[in-house]
Amino acid sequence: MTAAFDAPPVLFTLPDRNARGRFVRLDTVLNDILGAHDYPTAIKHVLAEAITLVALMGSLMKQDGGQLTMQAQTEGGIVELLVVDYRDGELRGHVRFDRNRLAQLGANPSLFALFGKGYLAITFDQSFGKGRYQGIVPLDDVSLAAACESYFCQSEQVPTLIRIAIESDSRGCRSAGYLVQHLAEGEEGRERLHVRLDHPEWEHVAILSATLSHGELLDPAVDGRALLWRLFHEEDEVRASDGTVLTKGCRCNVDHIRDVIGRFPQSEQADMVSDNGMIVVDCAFCSRAFQIAPVAPG
Ligand SMILES: [Zn+2]
Repeated sequence: MTAAFDAPPVLFTLPDRNARGRFVRLDTVLNDILGAHDYPTAIKHVLAEAITLVALMGSLMKQDGGQLTMQAQTEGGIVELLVVDYRDGELRGHVRFDRNRLAQLGANPSLFALFGKGYLAITFDQSFGKGRYQGIVPLDDVSLAAACESYFCQSEQVPTLIRIAIESDSRGCRSAGYLVQHLAEGEEGRERLHVRLDHPEWEHVAILSATLSHGELLDPAVDGRALLWRLFHEEDEVRASDGTVLTKGCRCNVDHIRDVIGRFPQSEQADMVSDNGMIVVDCAFCSRAFQIAPVAPG
């Protein structure tokens, strides 16, 4: 694919507008994650959107081992569970869904058709004991991106605009994501923004950002910095830098799985063994199958 995809995320700030943003484009990483599963197109698309959102939000964190997790859960939805997480540029994700019910839906089902009554939980787990924040928003918006905007606006009181574009063809799936948000003036230690009702400098950023089209987001001829220039060339200052390169990563490991199995009593382990005498455990994220011998009590 062209260099415009698989480039590191672009981190940017507009100092005079108290705004910061992120721009990502995914190709190889996305197809590596999607390729580990045999998902129908509608599920691939919703997972691609979630991965792109998590890449954007993960790029907001300091890269020091903290983790961001997005989890969508439903009561009786076709999608039962969707989980995507991020740590230091490593992304992984999977979806559990009802294949038979999905097959009865037409092409391009709406978010509501897939999730029904559902909730989206976003958890920022900072490393070094710096705390864990979780926000939960209902999935009654038109898209996962809109639900993430609600998360920032409601749980964090940070006005945020997000745009996601996804396309797929015989070569695979490509996505682009743009996030911009209004920070409290002077950032930490000051009064939070929401106490003020008018944010003219933010309105301007939001209006310009809202002009981004699906085609521009995915246009390989225009890279992230060129896109920012297009939007903000009249600003006095736009600072841009490269974020942590995004990769597919899974933290499943055989020792951890053996440890978990060892916590089951011998009789239950005996029920888990397959014909070859081994317990087979699949990683839901990367679809690797681990063959583990029953663990004797320690
Ligand atoms: Zn795995």
